[in-house]
Amino acid sequence: MLDPQAATSTPLSPDLFEAAEARTAHNYHPLPVVVAHAEGAWMTDVDGRRYLDMLAGYSALNFGHGHPALLAAAHEQLDRVTLTSRAFVNDRFAEFTAKLGDLCGKDLVLPMNTGAEAVETAIKVARKWGYEVKGVPAGQAEIVVMAGNFHGRTTTIVGFSDDPDARDGFGPYTPGFRTVPYGDLAAAEAAIGPNTVAVLVEPIQGEGGVIIPPAGYLAGLRELCTRENVLLACDEIQSGLGRTGRTFASDHEDVVPDLYILGKALGGGIVPVSAVVADRDVLGVLRPGEHGSTFGGNPLACAVAVGVLDLLATGAFQERAAELGLELRDRLAAMVGRGVTAFRSRGLWAGVDVDPSVGTGREVCEALMARGVLAKDTHGSTIRLAPPLVVSPDDLHWGLDQLAAVVGG
Ligand SMILES: *Cc1c(COP(=O)(O)O)cnc(C)c1O
Repeated sequence: MLDPQAATSTPLSPDLFEAAEARTAHNYHPLPVVVAHAEGAWMTDVDGRRYLDMLAGYSALNFGHGHPALLAAAHEQLDRVTLTSRAFVNDRFAEFTAKLGDLCGKDLVLPMNTGAEAVETAIKVARKWGYEVKGVPAGQAEIVVMAGNFHGRTTTIVGFSDDPDARDGFGPYTPGFRTVPYGDLAAAEAAIGPNTVAVLVEPIQGEGGVIIPPAGYLAGLRELCTRENVLLACDEIQSGLGRTGRTFASDHEDVVPDLYILGKALGGGIVPVSAVVADRDVLGVLRPGEHGSTFGGNPLACAVAVGVLDLLATGAFQERAAELGLELRDRLAAMVGRGVTAFRSRGLWAGVDVDPSVGTGREVCEALMARGVLAKDTHGSTIRLAPPLVVSPDDLHWGLDQLAAVVGG
C-alpha cells in the first residue's frame, strides 16, 4: 500500500528514473517508478513505497515475485552448473522436456529463450513441415495470421503485425503471411489455400487488449485445420500457464493445437524460457544444424522451468485464477457505466476500456500509481489487469478499489 511515511526525505526515485531514461533507447515509455525489491504480488520502490503489481511482467510473473520454490530451484542450480550449450546434454534437460511434454500432451519439446524466438521457431517448423510432409512447392508456404496480433518484435514477426507502431519503418517484410480478421472463422477458411502450412493464433489476444474471440472460434479453427491439413499453432505465451483459469486458454474449448508456443511464465519471472511443443510428426522435421539457440534449454532455465511445471501440475494456480477471476469479473461489471465503458476478462486477466472522458489509459495508470497500484495501458484507453496468480483476495479487491476510485472520480 502507498505509504507516504515510508518515503525518505530526499527521494531517490526521480534521479534514478532520469538516469535510467538518459542512457537508454526510448523504445519504452515506463511509468516513473524505480523498483528495488519485490515479493509475491507487491513491489517496493527505492524510496520504500509499496505497489500492488497488477501487470505481473506481462504474465511472466504468474507465480509472483520470488516464489520460494522457484527461487530455491534457481539457487540450487546456480551452484552446480548454469550453461552447457546444446553441444552437450545437461542433467536437468530430460526432466524439463518430459514434464513440459506431459503438460501439453505432446511428444517433443524445442526449448528457446524469448517468446519471439519461440514464434520464429514455430514458423520455421511449420514451413519445413509444409515442404517435407504436406508437399508444398519450395518457397511457396503460407501462414494465416490474425489482425490485431502480437507475436513479438523480430523483423519477420513485425512484418505481419498490423500495428503501425510495431511495423512501420522496419521493412522490407518477410513474405508468406496472410492476415484475416480475428474471430472470423469464415475469413480464415477463405484464406486457406493449397500452400497454407499453418494458422497462427493467440487464443486470447493479450496486447490487443485481452480480446476474447467468439465462443466456438478456436474449436472451429481446430476443425478447419484438421480438415485442410494445416497446422494449428497457438501462441499461448501470454494466455497460457494458468492465467485464464486453465492451463492453456485453448483448454476452454478443449482445443489441442498442433504447436504450442510458450514463454513468459515458463521462466518463473527469473530467467527467459520459451518453447515450442508438438508431436514427433511435426517437430521431427528438424535435423541437427537446422535450428538452434546457444542458451535454449540451459540447466538454469530447465531447473526453474521444472519448478514452474511442478507448480502447474498441482492445478492449484489454475483453480485460483478461475476463482479470483470470478471476483475480478464481478467487480469490473459493477464499474461499467461508472468510468468504464466495457471490459473483457477470463480468469485473472482483464482488458478494461476506460471512458475517454476519464483520461487516457496512460493517465489512468499514472493515477493508479499514485494510489499504489502498477498497471499498464494497451492501445489507447484500455488497461490490462493481470496480477500475479498468488495475489490475495483482499489485495485484489484493494487494487480494484483504487481502480474504481480513479475512474469513478
Ligand atoms: C510477449 C508475447 C510474445 C513475445 O515474447 P517476448 O519474450 O517478449 O519475445 C509473443 N506472443 C505473445 C502472445 C506475447 O504476449
